[in-house]
Amino acid sequence: MKITDLKCAVIGQNPVVRIVTDEGIDGYGQAESSKPYLKPHVMYYRDRILGRDPTDVERVMLGIRRYGGFKPWGSSVSAIEMALWDIAGKAAGVPVYKLLGGKIRDRVRVYLTGGPEPIQGSDPEDFASHVARIPGMKEGFEICKQGIAFHSPMPHAVPHFTYSDPDGPTLESRGPITERGLNHMVDCVAAMKEVLGDRIGLALDCGPGMMVTDAIRLARALEPYNVMWLEDMITGDYTPYVLADLYRQVTESTSTPIHTGEQIYLRQHFKDLFEKQAINIIGPDPADVGGIAELKWIAEYADLHGILIAPHGVLDGLFGLAAHVQVAATLPRNYIALEYPGAADWWHEIVEGLPDPIVVDGHVQVWDAPGLGVRFVEEEAKKHLSEEDAGFFD
Ligand SMILES: [Mg+2]
Repeated sequence: MKITDLKCAVIGQNPVVRIVTDEGIDGYGQAESSKPYLKPHVMYYRDRILGRDPTDVERVMLGIRRYGGFKPWGSSVSAIEMALWDIAGKAAGVPVYKLLGGKIRDRVRVYLTGGPEPIQGSDPEDFASHVARIPGMKEGFEICKQGIAFHSPMPHAVPHFTYSDPDGPTLESRGPITERGLNHMVDCVAAMKEVLGDRIGLALDCGPGMMVTDAIRLARALEPYNVMWLEDMITGDYTPYVLADLYRQVTESTSTPIHTGEQIYLRQHFKDLFEKQAINIIGPDPADVGGIAELKWIAEYADLHGILIAPHGVLDGLFGLAAHVQVAATLPRNYIALEYPGAADWWHEIVEGLPDPIVVDGHVQVWDAPGLGVRFVEEEAKKHLSEEDAGFFD
């Protein structure tokens, strides 16, 4: 089998990659909805994969992996990797999880980021009323994640939250947090835990951009609340580096689990985090880290070091969800949950193979169709293509 074409179209806001072969089998992958600009970058790889056998996934990846980078520049490589696995699974007539070693669970836990509606306000009572709606959601989520600190409007909404720019911190100027800011965050977490109790786990996305001393003080102050994790306090999101030694100082100083990794590209950049015991939980995104086999390898290596995994994925779209589910079914015991990419109401119109409802009792049932197991209903999907992408399915 040979690759004859690589295409990319934006559906919803997500770039969708299509790899076409000479045997009539095609494969799909997807990047985050925050990256509709990615199309030219995907096409950069076209000449590097044409003529290759897509079922030799690793051999194709060796030709393109080194031309990716930290978020957002690992996305194209990652989406192509997903599409290669989709083809390999379809060609073999098995779901991708079989090619990754087989599943060890039939349902994969997912976690919710945010709530049924965006949060209004930055005060403890706003956080409490925001999370109060989560226990009633039909998906039955067991874990939710909320933004605080630099991953929220707090630095601007709460007076004297930081010691950085008097006009409010920017991404470049994030820095020391005041005692008032620290107390405000603790009050907000206490208010949320009061509502959620111990039935729904609470994770907190915090940064990036905090100082080590503030990260330690926050993590220690939150110890009585048993939060699931504190995410990306030092680096994360679009910081193109890791700073494992700083994370190690934080992680060694507290019993609160410390989490990072959604921006990281490739296994090599997790090595320090693992070998220095710098982190408790990692959150690589299969749509940024280099793909699903890359994520599988990282999860196994994390498990050897007693480190857990909760993959990032909130913006990964429906093929991203499919890729998550396939790999999550195979991850070792250190798997907690993947971040659920909230479904658009038209997803079930443009594809077959997604369960309906997708999330039941906080889990997604692993499906068994070949490849990623999700097939476009082309006539319906075409309605979501722009004029520029009209030939995507040709
Ligand atoms: Mg995050």
